[in-house]
Amino acid sequence: AVIVRDLVKRFDGRPVLDHLDLGIDRGEFVALVGRSGSGKSTLLRILAGLDAQHEGRAGLPSSVSVAFQEPRLLPWRSVGENVRLGLRADDPAEVARRALGEVGLAAHEKSWPLTLSGGEAQRVSLARALVREPQLLLLDEPFGALDALTRASMHRLVQGLWRDHRPAVLLVTHDVEEALTLADRTLVLADGRISAEHPRPGDERELSALRDRVLDDLGV
Ligand code: ATP
Ligand code: MG
Repeated sequence: AVIVRDLVKRFDGRPVLDHLDLGIDRGEFVALVGRSGSGKSTLLRILAGLDAQHEGRAGLPSSVSVAFQEPRLLPWRSVGENVRLGLRADDPAEVARRALGEVGLAAHEKSWPLTLSGGEAQRVSLARALVREPQLLLLDEPFGALDALTRASMHRLVQGLWRDHRPAVLLVTHDVEEALTLADRTLVLADGRISAEHPRPGDERELSALRDRVLDDLGV
């Protein structure tokens, strides 16, 4: 679904992404961890087509959706309108309603975004990303601002949605354990490239060993 070769991205001459290579298969769930400022969001913006000023090749699928850490809902539009905005379908309202149902918010179609809790707003943003049936779903720390219980239920929700819709997923997170448990593969971004890669751990012991290795990779 994604093939990136030799990607170089500079800010004021300073390379943030430095000859980065990345491949994601169709339907694969990949996590990306890296220290703050390592270039995770920069990479996602490029993959989302929001930043074309770079060197190197980025081969991307035709449909890409993004969900950011802050839900970025339009406050003067209802929840349902936010989800179906710009959607091309025979019956956009019905498609939006179904997506809201999938994230457990069918009752909030007519609500205003500002009346939602943080977790609810984040679920609306997921529904908005999914309603386009993307081949690639980019998630930039979508659970970062949520409490532990809401995070846990979001993890289940995202896994369920991924199983049902099978987009390729690239999940950016600073939570190493979250990355290792959710993703087929966890990539480490350091010094402008993918410096290490780890498979999903098989059991609790492997998870704890891998967590330590990733923290080493990150130089924590
Ligand atoms: P975090 O985990 O804190 O979100 P990140 O890995 O997402 O960090 P980026 O936001 O990609 O990091 O930023 C990578 C580097 O590029 C940082 O040093 C940042 O200051 C710099 N940077 C990002 N956007 C710009 C910009 N528009 N102009 C100049 N520098 C930028
Ligand atoms: Mg970021």
